[in-house]
Order: sequence, then C-alpha cells, then structure tokens
Amino acid sequence: STIAALRGVLEEHRGAGRTIGFVPTMGFLHPGHASLMDAARAENDVVVTSIFVNPLQFGPSEDLDSYPRDLTGDAALAEEAGVDLLFVPSATEMYPDEVRTTVHVSGVSEPLEGRTRPTHFDGVATVVTKLFAIVGPCRAYFGEKDFQQLAVVRQMVRDLSLPVEVVGCATIRDADGLALSSRNAYLTPEERAAAPAVHAALQAGRRAIEGGATSPDEVQRAIAAVIEAEPLGELDYAAVVDAASFEVPDPLRGSLRLLVAARFGKARLIDNLGVEVGPALASREAQGP
Ligand code: AMP
Repeated sequence: STIAALRGVLEEHRGAGRTIGFVPTMGFLHPGHASLMDAARAENDVVVTSIFVNPLQFGPSEDLDSYPRDLTGDAALAEEAGVDLLFVPSATEMYPDEVRTTVHVSGVSEPLEGRTRPTHFDGVATVVTKLFAIVGPCRAYFGEKDFQQLAVVRQMVRDLSLPVEVVGCATIRDADGLALSSRNAYLTPEERAAAPAVHAALQAGRRAIEGGATSPDEVQRAIAAVIEAEPLGELDYAAVVDAASFEVPDPLRGSLRLLVAARFGKARLIDNLGVEVGPALASREAQGP
C-alpha cells in the first residue's frame, strides 16, 4: 500500500534483471481485467497490478464515492491470474499534497469522452504517469474496452519518451455481447437485459459500413438508432473516427473505430468496435467470409 514498499521490492527484481509487467486498474476486478493479467503473466517475469480509484479522473457529479469496491474478491482474482504484487495505495499516499502537476494530452483526448468528461483524461494521464514512475514497468497492459484511453496513453508515452511498451488487449464480453465493466454492477436486472443494445448498436454501424455506407453521419445514425430504440437507454454519443487520430474521415476509409456511450439508469456504459475500410477490407473480402 505504500510507494516506498513497492519500490523496494521492485528494485530487487530489476537488480536481478527481471522484466516487470504492469496492469493498472480501479478494482472490482472481472475477467476483462484478468485477461490483461494473463497477457502480462505470459510476457514478463514479475506482474504488478494496481487498484486505485483515482479521484483526479472523476468529475464533481460522477460516481467516485459509489464506485464499487471489493478488495477481498480482487485479491483472490489477482492471485488466481498469477499476479505477484498488488499495489493498493490510499488517496493520500498517491496525492499527499494539492496536485499542482498534471499531464494533458491534446488532440486525441478532446472529442467523445473528453467532451462529456472534460477533466477525465488529464486525471488518467496524470495517474498513469505517476504509476509508471512508481512501478517502472517494461510493459503496461490496457484494454481496448476504453479505446480512447488507450489512444491517450499511447500518445503520452510517445510524446514523453516514457520507457514502457503499451500493450492493448481485446475487449472481453458476456455471451450476449455486453462488454464486461465494473460499472455493470449498477445495472438493475431490467437494465442489464437491455444493455446489450450498446454492442448491438456498434454492430449495426459496422453492418452499415460493410453495406457500403461511406458517410460518417449515416454510420453515426445507424449506431444511434439502436440505442434510441431501447427505452431504458439514453444515448450520450455515437461516433465513427479514425482509430489512430480520432479525426472523422469523410468519406470513411482506413482503420476506423466505432464508439458509443449511453446511460442505462445509474450506469454510463461505453463500448467500441474496429472496422477496416479500403485495402484491408478488400483483402478480407478476397479471402471469403
Ligand atoms: P478499470 O478498472 O475500469 O479502470 O479498467 C482497468 C483496465 O482494464 C483498463 O485498461 C480497461 O480498459 C481494462 N478493461 C476493463 N474492462 C475490460 C474488458 N471488458 N475487456 C478488456 N479490458 C478491460
């Protein structure tokens, strides 16, 4: 739970030439988190997971106080996944003084999540920088589930020449398509039954592109329509962007990402899906279905 204690152990591992893999989380762990730990376990000598509900990345009206917590369950899941060290600092351990230094990543952090949650990505970039400085990982694992966050972290690591390899991991879903998320715990049974509309909306967007749509507006409407048809869902945004720059190509081409955010009761759910248009799609079609 202290920075000094963790550093002490990790210095020994580094001194012995061991590689360190790092999985930062906010806890209430589920198989999506476990998939990141599995990847870290396979590629590193020592695996560190952090559990820290970072106040800096929550807006004033967001769910910082109600964010679900279960340290006992988390420890069991992490142990099962082969994690060596679980770092669980308090807020005062991480931020003993007023925070005067923050990290801002312009561009990719600004649309979508950045628009709805204006201070969110500064909080993420700052805590990830700080955790990297504490852990000193060779590799760090992030889920594609939070695709814009992954893009922000990649940009930051490139811009600041941080000595860490960022590894993106595929989204783990329930059988009905709902992406696993700690915030799914907020869903009532009725909302849970309706929530697969989020993934269905993205698939509708992908079908529109595969059916020949090249207008971002048309694809955005195809995604939005599925959420709007679901009485328990309230759309925040639906978008199609270039997967690297987060700019909107018009006409649509290249490596695209479809993204959606919607509220189901108390839960704000986000999800995304990749689609290739152009040479990549053409070669896939050439290979048959
Ligand atoms: P969180 O605890 O929500 O901050 O997430 C910690 C890490 O786990 C982030 O890199 C997330 O993108 C990743 N993650 C969360 N849910 C999933 C999922 N369903 N599949 C894959 N990775 C996930």
